[in-house]
Amino acid sequence: MRQPLVAGNWKMNGSKAFVAELLMGIKASSGGIQATELAVCAPFPYLYLLEELLAGTPIRYGAQDVAFENDGAFTGQVSVKMLKDFGCHYVIIGHSERRQFNAETDAMIARKYAQAIANELTPILCVGESLTERQQGQTEAIVARHLDAVIELNGVDALAKGVIAYEPVWAIGTGLTATPEQAQEVHAFLRTRIAAHSQPVASQVRILYGGSMKSNNALELIMQPDIDGGLIGGASLKADEFLAICQAGD
Ligand code: PEP
Repeated sequence: MRQPLVAGNWKMNGSKAFVAELLMGIKASSGGIQATELAVCAPFPYLYLLEELLAGTPIRYGAQDVAFENDGAFTGQVSVKMLKDFGCHYVIIGHSERRQFNAETDAMIARKYAQAIANELTPILCVGESLTERQQGQTEAIVARHLDAVIELNGVDALAKGVIAYEPVWAIGTGLTATPEQAQEVHAFLRTRIAAHSQPVASQVRILYGGSMKSNNALELIMQPDIDGGLIGGASLKADEFLAICQAGD
């Protein structure tokens, strides 16, 4: 059985006061959540607050990006070792906003994945197609390309050490959610593709859905056989909304 995971992606939002209040709200009401694992991924400057405020709770946390080298002359970048130093468990890799605005390539993302695995940080690998790509019938080709780049560099067994998030770009932050059937179709495609390399890895790896998941659509998505939870953007910035999604995973 795969344990459901609901992870918040706060993106470039927050302040010290906002983070403290949000975490207090999540901590205060997360006690009733039994089966679902909770995690939040914060901007780098707030990781020290997560380390402090989530100590002693089962809520895991992480960052939204990482460098593909461990240290040295990479001005402005943050390494896996640094994230580990702040107690991070997860790191989001290959988010579509980074592919789009930071020109991240499949090759860079595969190297980031390798760094995370080598240092026992759990990568959440994002894959997903744009609206034009979907309209042109390229959804499977695009997510296959995103997935294959990571398998080619890291081997299929490395996938078992991470999490995959299917995030259709057209659904991120738009209020347009993939239907449960659309999402399930892509999740099943990804799992079958992994199974072609290794059935045990395919059965084990968690595949989250991300893209305007909210409390009013989470249950029908998470109930799909190949959807193992959610990567939540906007809705993770409100404690009650985020927790309602976590309840759906339970
Ligand atoms: C995301 O950024 O990963 C995401 C899923 O965003 P939203 O939930 O706001 O669509």
